[in-house]
Amino acid sequence: MQAPSVGGVMLPRGNGQAVRLSRGASLTDFAEKINANPASLVGVMMNLGEMVTATQSVPDETLKMLADEMNFVLEIVSPEEEDRELLESFDIEFGEDEGGEEALVSRPPVVTVMGHVDHGKTRLLDAIRKTNVVAGEAGGITQHIGAYQVGAEVNGEDRKITFIDTPGHEAFTAMRARGAKSTDIAILVVAANDGVMPQTIEALNHAKAADVPIVVAVNKIDVEGADPVKVRGQLTEFGLVAEEYGGDTMFVDISAKQGLNIEALLEAVVLTADASPDLRANPEQDAQGIAIESHLDRGRGAVSTVLVQRGTLRIGDTVVVGDAYGRVRAMLDDNGQNVQEAGPSTPVLVLGLTNVPGAGDNLLVVDDDRTARQIAEKRAARERNANFARKGVRFSLENLDEALKAGLVQELNLIIKGDASGSVEALESSLLQLDVGEEVDIRILHRGVGAVTESDINLATGSDAIVIGFNVRAAGRAEQMAEREGVDVRYYSVIYQAIEEIEAALKGMLKPEYEEVELGTAEIREVFRSSKLGNIAGVLVRSGEVKRNTKARLLRDGKVIAESLNISGLRRFKDDVTEIREGFEGGINLGNFNDIKIDDVIATYEMREKPRG
Ligand code: GDP
Repeated sequence: MQAPSVGGVMLPRGNGQAVRLSRGASLTDFAEKINANPASLVGVMMNLGEMVTATQSVPDETLKMLADEMNFVLEIVSPEEEDRELLESFDIEFGEDEGGEEALVSRPPVVTVMGHVDHGKTRLLDAIRKTNVVAGEAGGITQHIGAYQVGAEVNGEDRKITFIDTPGHEAFTAMRARGAKSTDIAILVVAANDGVMPQTIEALNHAKAADVPIVVAVNKIDVEGADPVKVRGQLTEFGLVAEEYGGDTMFVDISAKQGLNIEALLEAVVLTADASPDLRANPEQDAQGIAIESHLDRGRGAVSTVLVQRGTLRIGDTVVVGDAYGRVRAMLDDNGQNVQEAGPSTPVLVLGLTNVPGAGDNLLVVDDDRTARQIAEKRAARERNANFARKGVRFSLENLDEALKAGLVQELNLIIKGDASGSVEALESSLLQLDVGEEVDIRILHRGVGAVTESDINLATGSDAIVIGFNVRAAGRAEQMAEREGVDVRYYSVIYQAIEEIEAALKGMLKPEYEEVELGTAEIREVFRSSKLGNIAGVLVRSGEVKRNTKARLLRDGKVIAESLNISGLRRFKDDVTEIREGFEGGINLGNFNDIKIDDVIATYEMREKPRG
């Protein structure tokens, strides 16, 4: 069989051969793997009805479709899988406890607090921390390191619980987005005076998706008008049925402000943990864990709060955390005390890393500095490549037009952050009033008062949104993160300027319409048979001109016999030419299509973008 040809370029046939590509690969990456010309793959995609540029990162389905077309069997490798393979090449396995059953010892549950904004997550985390009498006795000053551990007495037993102490659930989302499971139990905070709100549902879905059991903290019961029973009723609709109603979710009515029922909540967490399978780890092996929060400290260099998940982390250990590495120089616990070692479910602040890892990066202890450096460098290189490929994946106002043409977006997702609720609302309502026709929708995914946060960037990353900061800037690592993820963050201080710019981008982003334009027709006068090229049509061009590499259809007695053919070869006498004009004779090769007869008509056409009225 002949190789399929697109635009005159021969394509490799996979014949069922397997190709591995990283998630988010571009056509150029694909072409490299199969030794093809990237432009030819762009051509195939166009034939398949999709406009994709060679360097843009394309969705899994698109890569699959392309692979099918060329008869390759495609395997898409997720970043987690790639990392696993990288570690395997160093004989390291991440995520599994070493040894058998007998090596496992029970460990404290790791808990994340989630819920709608203003329902009291921060206040609750503060209230819980205050119950940590142990810290008070030790005279330590509680430090905010992104996680802490408290004690709780349940059924006469002293138990520990580890809380991830990042307000909101950004750490959770970030870690989930990266496939790193860090949380055993989620506390869903719902204010009893407000009830179930959009972010309540979002948080609930996050927890469910990660298969994390939920304990519901019905907060603010001290407030007048609080209706904890109503909250129970509302959550039933989302599959969270309270134990007292025959379900299996524990609900605890609390007041974070008054410190009411905090112990009962901790007890519910412990009981839920006991009911969930296998909160155990091997404390004896080399430590593995996850980075929760990291930053660059003026005096101490890169500091990172890590949660040890298995094994025991000790001072002097050689570690890799994401693309950072180093020797553990010192460790501090959540009371600011120096510690020598940290076992499973213990959060510690680690000093001694070369640079700042990201939230959700995994930590592992390795045998020597060289291994650590090599793993870190390989990860950094991969990250750079991925960034490179990702450029242009996410949308900026400038490339919206392109993205839309490629069929990648039909709506503009926006996240609006501003300095005051008045300005945010004004901006939002003006944007929603923009008249941009029916094909494009503006969707405000999230709005709020305050700086652009990592959580905003996370949301934008997951939903290809553009972030607008009105009289506010990015906070903390949000800027770097936006840069890394290729998220477009725009800052404005004048409302009409913001609106003008977005309107302009949207006008450009209106979906183009295409129409078919006939280019020329040619009548077949003779059929030559070539052993190399198949049948060649000897033609007389009747109208317009016939150009090489254009689309064609074949007509016989006025009926269409074949569609989507390609003028892959064009000759006048012995010479290859690019076009033959009306009234001239020549030879046409239709690639591997050979069913041609004398008197058939070859009509060529192209798709042109219709100008907008
Ligand atoms: P977050 O956005 O979920 O972290 O909410 P915060 O913890 O910042 O709480 C939002 C507001 O509700 C703050 O003004 C808190 O003081 C208040 N708040 C939190 N918990 C309670 C509570 O149990 N009772 C009352 N009356 N107010 C509370």
